[in-house]
Amino acid sequence: MPKILDGRLLAQRIKEDLKKEITLLKEKTGRVPHLVILMIGRDEGASAYANSQQKTAFEIGIQYELRTLPENILEGAVIDIIKELNRDTSVHGIMIHKPVPAAIHYRRAANYIDTAKDLEGINVTNIGKMIFGETTIIPCTPAAVMAHIKSIEIPIRGKDAVIVGRSEIVGKPLSLLLLQEEATVTICHRATSAANKLIDHIKRADILVAALGRPFFVKGEWIKEGAIVIDVGINQLDGKIVGDVEFTEAQKRAGYITPVPGGVGPVTVVMLMRNGIEAFKTQINNHNKF
Ligand code: NAD
Repeated sequence: MPKILDGRLLAQRIKEDLKKEITLLKEKTGRVPHLVILMIGRDEGASAYANSQQKTAFEIGIQYELRTLPENILEGAVIDIIKELNRDTSVHGIMIHKPVPAAIHYRRAANYIDTAKDLEGINVTNIGKMIFGETTIIPCTPAAVMAHIKSIEIPIRGKDAVIVGRSEIVGKPLSLLLLQEEATVTICHRATSAANKLIDHIKRADILVAALGRPFFVKGEWIKEGAIVIDVGINQLDGKIVGDVEFTEAQKRAGYITPVPGGVGPVTVVMLMRNGIEAFKTQINNHNKF
């Protein structure tokens, strides 16, 4: 039987380390990271994510401030709020919850977030820095995937890593992180499936990351014996949350596998807090504000 990569346990371990770091930073600076999270309008999924962020921040000792903005707010007004938060030296991290109302262009607005305060590591400068392995603020979900893989303590170097899904928030940044560890990386997407090549790629994956957002799409019989399988997918199926991988069958072949729920998700929230701490440290070092 494979080893189940328990995201809640891993998240707990990382949280303990972050708590210790906060205690030291507080001793040294008299302050803790202050994160401001903007939520525009109402969305059930975003509210659930915000609740979980708030709880995690509290456990670690980070100051978390959720600001709810009206549904009909103009993009210019959101940008003004971001500029004000950028100037405010008591604020160390900023993020905008998705989805945003249709009248607001998410990427255009989010790109106004100061690079040093970009909690999700998604502005163009931070993404660009990833190519050179220079940023300490890494997009949360790819960071969570890497934390799971590294928790196994098996060398990544030279492994065939196959990512299914090429989104800007998961597949593309993750490919850079895996390349940095010298894996041989393949990114598959819709056109790979359309060309009938997806299964062949998956079958040779030593490390498989499924991030396509299709319930149980990846079949157990496609998994290479002993592979590390990381399931990023979060899908609703018959009132339940399920992943992109057919878990019951896949676990018969995988060496290690993440469950859904309880795999990547809990670690993602903790990675956001880690980014908040990194942002705080960068700003303290840059401006010597204590
Ligand atoms: P997205 O819709 O932006 O991208 C999906 C990708 O999958 C695309 O690149 C597309 O080409 C590819 N794809 C779709 N159908 C395919 C097919 N039949 N064959 C091959 N490739 C196919 O999705 P996203 O935002 O990256 O999210 C992917 C999944 O991960 C979703 O289920 C989402 O809910 C989940 N997610 C989880 C977390 C977490 O923290 N656990 C975070 C973000 C996203």
